[in-house]
Amino acid sequence: MGTLSIVATPIGNLGDITLRALETLKECAVIYAEDTRVIAKLLARYEIKKPLQRLDAVTELKKAEDVIARLEEGEHVVFVSDAGTPGISDPGARLVASVRARLPAATIEAIPGPSALTAALSIAGMDTSSFTFLGFLPHKKGRQTALKEIAKSEVPVVLYESPHRIARLLKELESLHISRVTVARELTKIHEETITGTPSEIGARFSAQPETVRGEFVVIIVP
Ligand code: SAM
Repeated sequence: MGTLSIVATPIGNLGDITLRALETLKECAVIYAEDTRVIAKLLARYEIKKPLQRLDAVTELKKAEDVIARLEEGEHVVFVSDAGTPGISDPGARLVASVRARLPAATIEAIPGPSALTAALSIAGMDTSSFTFLGFLPHKKGRQTALKEIAKSEVPVVLYESPHRIARLLKELESLHISRVTVARELTKIHEETITGTPSEIGARFSAQPETVRGEFVVIIVP
């Protein structure tokens, strides 16, 4: 029976790959990736050549069948998402669940590494002994309910947000009278910054410097 390695990859800075991740990518038989073009850049940087297969959110269950067939043949299969830890607001969970259900004897191992969630919390400078992670908020149905729950939370709430929607989210938080928010932007990249303030202060800053509304954001709502 083969091994499925779930490998975390950098969230921006390609230097953030772990030694164990590199060893695993070098020794596996095949890499299933959320987007083969993204992993190809990482592999080129470390001069690793491997057969690549796509396994994204749409094809996850279908491609899980291919992975299961390979594991039955004793192959070592890697799965990587585009950035960070697979399964964290990324594909991977259904692949793992399928393999666990169908091949209880297969080895499933985590090769841990970067995640925007833990990176942002590590520099937030707040008590993170307990927190709630909600990933991306729903765009429509359930959004208002989630926002009201966030406003009531007694522990920090961590969200992922895209540059297109960050202004809307800050306005919503302002109208819920949230008084303190930390936004970590472009972690591990050239324009990395962490801003703390009221939602309206951070919104005003983004309006004044629109070039800073680019990239990727982790939003931490401080109770
Ligand atoms: N699996 C990833 C992880 O472990 O962090 C998350 C994937 S999710 C599809 C992508 C979201 O993560 C982005 O929209 C952003 O909210 C957050 N993110 C990813 N990279 C980031 C970075 N370098 N800086 C800030 N946020 C980031």
